[in-house]
Amino acid sequence: MKRRTLEEITALDRDDPLREKRSAFEISEDVIYLDGNSLGVLPKAVPALMDTVVTQQWGDSLIRGWSEHGWMDLPSRVGNKIGHLIGAQPGTVIVADSTSVNLFKLLAAALALRPRRKVILSDSGNFPTDLHIAQGLRDLLERNHELKLVEPDKIENAIDKSVAVLMLTEVDYKTGFKHDMARLTGSAHDAGALTLWDLAHSTGAFPVDLTAAKVDFAVGCGYKYLNGGPGAPAFLYIAPEHQNKVMPPLSGWMGHQAPFDFDLEYRPAAGIECMRVGTPPVLSLSALDCALDVYADVDMLDIRQKSVALCELFISEVEARCAELQLASPRNADARGSQVSFRYDYGCSLIKALSVRGVIGDFRPPDIIRFGFTPLYHSYMDVFRAAEILEEAIAQVSLEIK
Ligand SMILES: *Cc1c(COP(=O)(O)O)cnc(C)c1O
Repeated sequence: MKRRTLEEITALDRDDPLREKRSAFEISEDVIYLDGNSLGVLPKAVPALMDTVVTQQWGDSLIRGWSEHGWMDLPSRVGNKIGHLIGAQPGTVIVADSTSVNLFKLLAAALALRPRRKVILSDSGNFPTDLHIAQGLRDLLERNHELKLVEPDKIENAIDKSVAVLMLTEVDYKTGFKHDMARLTGSAHDAGALTLWDLAHSTGAFPVDLTAAKVDFAVGCGYKYLNGGPGAPAFLYIAPEHQNKVMPPLSGWMGHQAPFDFDLEYRPAAGIECMRVGTPPVLSLSALDCALDVYADVDMLDIRQKSVALCELFISEVEARCAELQLASPRNADARGSQVSFRYDYGCSLIKALSVRGVIGDFRPPDIIRFGFTPLYHSYMDVFRAAEILEEAIAQVSLEIK
């Protein structure tokens, strides 16, 4: 990859169609924050909105807020906003619970649609909670399900007629490796299996089209690229053809047909609403709702194009400056999400040295350093500066380990 000159970098910033978006975020000039893939930054509109929700909606309306402010509809209203970013039709996404809990609900629902098949197929690069949830469900069901793990690049060959559900995270949280979601979904369907995709590192990071890819089920995270705030609620997607065929494994009153009839018998609500469990977290949902407005006039293709350019700029600068680091992410942008990772034996010390210098990335054991790129608020110059500072930080860490 050819290095860019400073003039070229300045021109990239000047011509950036997303240039104005940075002002929508609370960003300290002393920090280059390359961790929006772990916790997104605070959108400027959120504090004032939260003040209104707390003092007026909660403070003044009290219990009347459920009807006066449409609190009960927040899960589907915010779900539809997210649906817009991931190619999901209205009425196919709700916001609820955490990603982990949503995975549990959808994996159980999907397994029930393939009662004779016993394999949950996933990869060894998947995020631990996804695998833990599958292990817990397998043990709870006691129906001899097997959680089969293969290397990320061996998935396609491992799909066969024993597979009930192919459960994958589209973008590997450590390396940024990006699966071909449409192709693998097609292969799974050819073998009669269902698919459950975790979009934690996809949603808001690049265009996703669940409808075109014919994905069956999906979950994703509200606090990463969507900037919903720490512990923001997550979302779940059910394709139209599976709605009204799945039974929610967590049959709470908010997923009942008529919660306020106080019926003693559970009857699932129609459509995706049956996957609601308990009372929606109105404050966190309101923050996420407001944060999503930043995306209202954004073309996800612009996001992707800039994300690829930011990642390529970072890779070329870092490789030219830091021979000690080994690229852990795919070099081919088509196989990469919106993050760049390197391997380095002293990664943990390096991330600390970077943090002292105002560059925030993160470390994942044993040796991965990870940098997330968020086109809404990063400039090309941020990326160039981050690479310069990385070079300084490595020099310091190298001295310390001698
Ligand atoms: C961040 C992340 C989660 C988070 O799950 P929580 O239930 O919100 O803690 C789950 N899966 C993947 C792949 C993630 O990256």
